[in-house]
Amino acid sequence: MTERLRVGFAGLGAIGRPIAVHLARRHDLAVWNRTSARAEAFAGEHGARRVETPRELAQGRDVVFTCLPNTPEVEAVLRGPDGMEAGLSAGAILVDLTSGIPEGSRAIAARLGRSGVGFVDAPVSGGTAGAEAGTLTIMVGGKGADVGRVRPLLEAFGRTIVHVGPVGAGHALKAVHNALIAVHLCALGEALTGLARAGVAPRPALEVINAANGRSFVSERLVPERVLTRAWPRTFRLALLDKDVRIACDMMAGLGLEHPVIGTAGRLLGEARAELGEEADHVEIIKRHERLAGLELVG
Ligand code: NDP
Repeated sequence: MTERLRVGFAGLGAIGRPIAVHLARRHDLAVWNRTSARAEAFAGEHGARRVETPRELAQGRDVVFTCLPNTPEVEAVLRGPDGMEAGLSAGAILVDLTSGIPEGSRAIAARLGRSGVGFVDAPVSGGTAGAEAGTLTIMVGGKGADVGRVRPLLEAFGRTIVHVGPVGAGHALKAVHNALIAVHLCALGEALTGLARAGVAPRPALEVINAANGRSFVSERLVPERVLTRAWPRTFRLALLDKDVRIACDMMAGLGLEHPVIGTAGRLLGEARAELGEEADHVEIIKRHERLAGLELVG
């Protein structure tokens, strides 16, 4: 049986909330959220304690999780008189589930390390459904000892947990992984609208693609379940995918590497974000392909 720990969780958004539910079942959980009504509702529903500030969240906790849009938001909740950093004690570990910026995480880890606080970047993949089912894939960056200590907590909501390197490695892998999803989305949007104009309907086109070798998670699951049905559920904001691809592009550019494919996907996502807004789901980028081709991918 896993040891019951004092755990803090900041960021009860689309993916943070279902992850926190698993932690609340196994640990003594305190929660903080920028919009406090969300934390209040969560605390009432799942037997957690709502705290007023990030500082209070960190006080007396063994492990604190952050699940925020990006690294600047993590920095914002760490700093200041009411920030988490003022509450974290030596020996505690901050686990950042955010899909963040490798360099920014290395800076945070170095700063926390001077106070004896550990840092692990542990971004996740598998979507809100994976978070609810507790089957996420988690890519972890950090020191072996820190990763070893938090692994039992990650097992509460992850099925595949891989230690991929030092601090920042998880964030690097997550950005590139999501850049691949963006490339697949853009490529399939282009391919299926082109085929529809050429007289091949999307359903039989996908039947062939998914039985043959052009398939991806986007062709096997996202497009059949969300586009062809016109369901368009909102589970992962396009703005967040745009952010991930930007992190990947910045990383490649910083390494002096050309990245024309990822770069193009990033440009298309940026255009779609401007057109569809901050709340649109990532799959909705395909609406743009539909508009440009003058058709809808139904079937
Ligand atoms: P949401 O936009 O649904 O939620 C964001 C959370 O961050 C909310 O709790 C929000 O608080 C909080 N927040 C936003 N800005 C600030 C700020 N300036 N200061 C403090 N808190 C802030 O995002 P997701 O939950 O979808 O994503 C969280 C992270 O997980 C992102 O890095 C994302 O890329 C990643 N991710 C998401 C997946 C998904 O399927 N949704 C899948 C895998 C990774 P408030 O309630 O006040 O708005």
